Amino acid sequence: MFAQSVFRTRCAGWLSAIGILLLLSGCAEETKPSTLERIQAEGTLRVITRNSPATYFEDRNGETGFEYELVKRFAEDLGLKLEIQTADSLDDLFSSLKKPDGPVLAAAGLVSTPGRSQSALFSDEYLQVTPQVIYRNGQRRPTGPEDLIGKRILVLKGSSHAEQLAALKLQYPELNYEESAAVEVVDLLRMVDEGQIDITLVDSNELAMNQVYFPNVRVGFDIGEAQKLAWAVAPGEDHSLLDEVNAFLKRAKDNGSLQRLKDRYYGHVDVLGYVGAYTFAQHLQQRLPRYEKFFRDAAQAHKIDWRLLAAIGYQESLWQPGATSKTGVRGLMMLTLRTAQAMGVSNRLDPKQSIVGGAKYIVYMKEQLPESIQEPDRTWFALAAYNVGSGHLEDARKLTKAEGLNPDKWLDVQKILPRLAQKQWFSKTRYGYARGGEPVHFVRNIRRYYDILTWVTQPQLEGTQFAEGNQHVPGIDKRPQPPQTTPL
Ligand code: GLU
Repeated sequence: MFAQSVFRTRCAGWLSAIGILLLLSGCAEETKPSTLERIQAEGTLRVITRNSPATYFEDRNGETGFEYELVKRFAEDLGLKLEIQTADSLDDLFSSLKKPDGPVLAAAGLVSTPGRSQSALFSDEYLQVTPQVIYRNGQRRPTGPEDLIGKRILVLKGSSHAEQLAALKLQYPELNYEESAAVEVVDLLRMVDEGQIDITLVDSNELAMNQVYFPNVRVGFDIGEAQKLAWAVAPGEDHSLLDEVNAFLKRAKDNGSLQRLKDRYYGHVDVLGYVGAYTFAQHLQQRLPRYEKFFRDAAQAHKIDWRLLAAIGYQESLWQPGATSKTGVRGLMMLTLRTAQAMGVSNRLDPKQSIVGGAKYIVYMKEQLPESIQEPDRTWFALAAYNVGSGHLEDARKLTKAEGLNPDKWLDVQKILPRLAQKQWFSKTRYGYARGGEPVHFVRNIRRYYDILTWVTQPQLEGTQFAEGNQHVPGIDKRPQPPQTTPL
């Protein structure tokens, strides 16, 4: 039906101008709609991806992941409904692109390799990654391909890394490795972490996403040049969808939305750094279980998300109850004496009391904020106030407004806050000088820790302890989410 209607619209006007014969030969090709026309007629963009933390998974707010968010924007731009399918394996992903009723686009953290040129057409790049050789801490660090000989190596079946290893084997025939279609990148990293295999190869973005869960995982060396992640469509002459994808990616690069997504999903790497990521993983296993119940109880009593509270605790003291600073703040939540007294904390070094005090204080800070500030910004403002004080925050909001920006948006106020440390600005404010850059870092760090804690503590683990060895990796389970305490 669609083909006929295209035929009619395209060809109706020509009927009088050219002969029937010419028309038949000229329009015969036009009758087959392009992929783009077909999906526009269907109104749905069918996308295939991998269910993994770097691509697509479910968190407290539902579907998420870097690829998901990017492809969602693409579908919105085209005015299409998005339909996501997850592939069982990379081979399955590529073969499904060729099926007539299959997905039209693969957005799955794929490297556009030469070996894949028969299986798909790749878009322009949206992320640069480096393939990395991963080994277990405590083992001898591999520093070059020859160190891989004799090792138990496992990679994803059909992956860019399998392709790399196949090429390497031509050079080093003694090199042996296995491929598995039954695992995901998170499994490979876990297997290295637990010593089930010696080596795996993953892309730097996948490691960045997962390092915090695997304290024993280390990078041996970068294997080869940086590579391009790209989306893929079915191979062939039809470039209609691909052109649309490339135009979209260009817009996303130009208007900064691609960079914002990168910051959101990979920004914690800047905050934690590589070393920080595995330190965090260690603390997650060794320290958090001791205080998790206190966080959960206090958060429940004060109707906030326990992971937010735990993230504040990590930022404040790295979950150390005896922490003290020169400025007189103490304890796991680093409360001042005044705040502790106001919140009914008699012993700041008692972790339970400190956590309850912190929970009360953050709620109190939220209550002080003007009604006009909505969630999730409300939470970020409350954190900033926790760090720099409500007076200074109010000053920064006034300066923000004077600049023509929105004083109720954290994104705007955080740009202005550092000015509180400059005389030309703070001299105009009510509360004067403040280290205005600090709350910006404070909020940014806590948001990262909070994100990580959310990924780690998927719903099926609610009520369990990390201490019981339930270290979880995200992206695997897709059960429905529990109701959220904080609308973030
Ligand atoms: N980027 C890989 C590929 O294109 C898959 C993910 C990984 O193994 O890191 O095959």
